[in-house]
Amino acid sequence: MTMRFFNTYSRQIEQFEPRNPAERAIGVYTCGPTVYSRAHIGNFRAYIFEDLLQRHLELRGYKVHRVMNITDVDDKTIRGAREAGIPLVKFTEQFKQAFFEDAETLRIKRADEFPCATDQRYIDKMIAMIGALISKGLAYQADDKSVYFRINKFPNYGKLAHFDLTQLQSTGRVKHDEYDKEHIGDFALWKAWDEEDGDVKWDSPWGPGRPGWHIECSAMATALLGDQIDIHCGGVDNIFPHHEAEIAQSEGVTGKKFVGYWLHCAHLLVDGQKMAKSLGNFYTVPDVLAKGYTGRELRYALLRVHYRVPLNFTWEGMNEARESLARIDEWLGRLRAVAKKENAQRSTPNAQRPIEKSDFENALDDDLNISAALGFLFESIRETNRAMDENKLDPGAAKGWLDWWQRINTVLDVEPQAEVVVPPEVAQLANERENARRERNWKRSDELREQISALGWEVRDTKDGSRLTGRGAS
Ligand code: AMP
Ligand code: ZN
Repeated sequence: MTMRFFNTYSRQIEQFEPRNPAERAIGVYTCGPTVYSRAHIGNFRAYIFEDLLQRHLELRGYKVHRVMNITDVDDKTIRGAREAGIPLVKFTEQFKQAFFEDAETLRIKRADEFPCATDQRYIDKMIAMIGALISKGLAYQADDKSVYFRINKFPNYGKLAHFDLTQLQSTGRVKHDEYDKEHIGDFALWKAWDEEDGDVKWDSPWGPGRPGWHIECSAMATALLGDQIDIHCGGVDNIFPHHEAEIAQSEGVTGKKFVGYWLHCAHLLVDGQKMAKSLGNFYTVPDVLAKGYTGRELRYALLRVHYRVPLNFTWEGMNEARESLARIDEWLGRLRAVAKKENAQRSTPNAQRPIEKSDFENALDDDLNISAALGFLFESIRETNRAMDENKLDPGAAKGWLDWWQRINTVLDVEPQAEVVVPPEVAQLANERENARRERNWKRSDELREQISALGWEVRDTKDGSRLTGRGAS
């Protein structure tokens, strides 16, 4: 069975043909978090879609080498560090840790590599790429000392976003720092240092400065996965300008096709609007846990809708996820009980059909059609529950279904584990305590610790922030 994906580049469903079919090795690059604040669950929708992609490719026998970058230097991180009055590294570290913590809560498989843009290895690669682009006439240093990509010299610019360059010509809203560019659409590869950057700077042939966001990804992707990669993902907001720029830079340097398949997920919405930091309509993973939901419930809620369909986040949706998981749990419990029995009763042919359990995987082959795959799962649950109601499912068949579940759960990963469910009132107190600590109000922080303790929970302060442990852990 071959897989099919919707390729943003062609705007068509295409058969997936990896570059290296004999070894079944696939390179996947996924744009990771910009660590200037805690990622919100909209970001995690993108990471869960990428997790589903990786797990399904692996189920189909591919060896996936996945890279997820961490953007730890850009305008937002520099501004955040300046406002907090702490060094950039210290400022970003807390959000890196929070990202890994949340990803673990949501059972997102770790990428093989998490390169950071500030790593000197990659800064060197960025500088080398910019140098190559200048020598090919694809980039230039402007009077403001920054280096820009010359989009008019790259004929394919706009192909990914299906964008007409002429639209960029006169917006009448040229920012003062853009007067130095030859074309309004030219984007920065290297940003010359200015006072606002403080001590954030690296030496380069063009003077001190820092890389632009787009070249960071081109450099880290090609450094770790080679000049050509199979699949590149992100949310739809990454298509333009970020991924368009990545193509221009990478292909501008190597002369080779950069990416085989571009996959982008639709947004997580709140009241019909994109969930975004800038709109203030976002929830973080701890916000959702504080309402009494578990990581696996949130994982399921973000996973269950096809990645190209916008998903509206609601608490009702969270409750539906909870109910669906409860049905799965109950079904597994019943199957396990039957599987333990002696082979007493005879099964009906229907309940024991040589299970066309491949339907689940086949649905995922079809551009990760998770809704259809879950539809098949729940149909199977209905069917086997009915057989169990009538005592017509024999232990062998029950074991068969459990084996099948084990296989598909390598993709879903939603079985219950010992999860810590923090009651909302405890989480609320812990939040208040975090705020008190931030304000250095130690007296209040101690009072809150007492209150948390009276509810049977212990709060421990680690270098990665506060952690709760308590009787509630199960
Ligand atoms: P950022 O940290 O802003 O660079 O975003 C990290 C990833 O999250 C990117 O792939 C974005 O496209 C994606 N993203 C941001 N907001 C949303 C959202 N509301 N829904 C889905 N994905 C998002
Ligand atoms: Zn990127």
